[in-house]
Amino acid sequence: MGADPHIAQLVMTLRQQGVRDGRVLEAIERTPRDLFVPESFADQSWADRALPISCGQTISQPTIVGLMTDRLELGPRQKVLEIGTGSGYQTAILARLCRRVYTIERYRSLLEQAEARFRHLGLSNITSMVGDGHKGWPAQAPFERIIVTAAPKEPPPALLAQLAQGGIMVIPLDAGREGQELVRITRTAQGFERQHLLHVRFVPLVEGLPRDET
Ligand code: SAH
Repeated sequence: MGADPHIAQLVMTLRQQGVRDGRVLEAIERTPRDLFVPESFADQSWADRALPISCGQTISQPTIVGLMTDRLELGPRQKVLEIGTGSGYQTAILARLCRRVYTIERYRSLLEQAEARFRHLGLSNITSMVGDGHKGWPAQAPFERIIVTAAPKEPPPALLAQLAQGGIMVIPLDAGREGQELVRITRTAQGFERQHLLHVRFVPLVEGLPRDET
């Protein structure tokens, strides 16, 4: 797989953009993005751009996936909560770097397609459900890491509550006219510390479920 020149090019771009952890680069190298994009965009699978998937959503740009994963500082024993499964591309990369990923998506059809991809890749440490990610996954909390791939205005309180002591959350926040910023939130004994990472553009984190899913 690593011999593919498109993948080698992408890994070089990821390095230039500040992805430092070699394990993150390897996980991206081992995850065939063409499996996650619609067939009509197959020729752009390895380009560093977001692409449309069904339900009006997008598969994130590879450098953003790489940076978010890098800044999570994942360890092999950690339990991770992901909000916004989408295509499942980010989920698959997380799954290679931690113990288990719990992932929530509000569109059932997207989730079913993502689950089929996880099976195809033999990724057996992913648990998924259809739901509103604002609520998190209380039955499995606390999580050492939380990643949100759709933008709210403020971090949902339930997600902050489900973040373990010393845990890290990476989340895009929508600041209205100023656009979105990717923020890293660390939970310390004193409270929550915020660190600005970079400007980004994600689809909004939407309240509730689509009408046909309820
Ligand atoms: N990481 C994904 C990004 C998908 S886009 C990928 O690379 O493919 C963000 C996803 O968040 C969309 O699929 C959207 O349906 C989902 N989403 C938006 N609001 C949500 C919510 N409240 N709960 C769960 N998922 C949500």
